[in-house]
Amino acid sequence: MYGSEILIFMKMDNNCEYCQGTIYQHYVKQEVFKHKVRIVIIENTYVGVCGSCGSRYYSAQLLHLVHDVATGTKLPQRIEQIPVIDLLN
Ligand SMILES: [Zn+2]
Repeated sequence: MYGSEILIFMKMDNNCEYCQGTIYQHYVKQEVFKHKVRIVIIENTYVGVCGSCGSRYYSAQLLHLVHDVATGTKLPQRIEQIPVIDLLN
């Protein structure tokens, strides 16, 4: 288990950088991150979502966790297969 890392809260002390809207903390069952190395899914965490434009915000701890899993520093609990469609073929 990842212990306290399962639930990573964001500090909500800033407004949206795009529209100045209020950022609310949302619990999400699954959040998909498209890291430059690979796609990583984090389950049961909290993300910030702008109430006006819907922009999503992530805590530095959560992004570090995504980076560590993507680069192999931290082992995932399971591997999922992702369906792919190539519209050029
Ligand atoms: Zn916004």
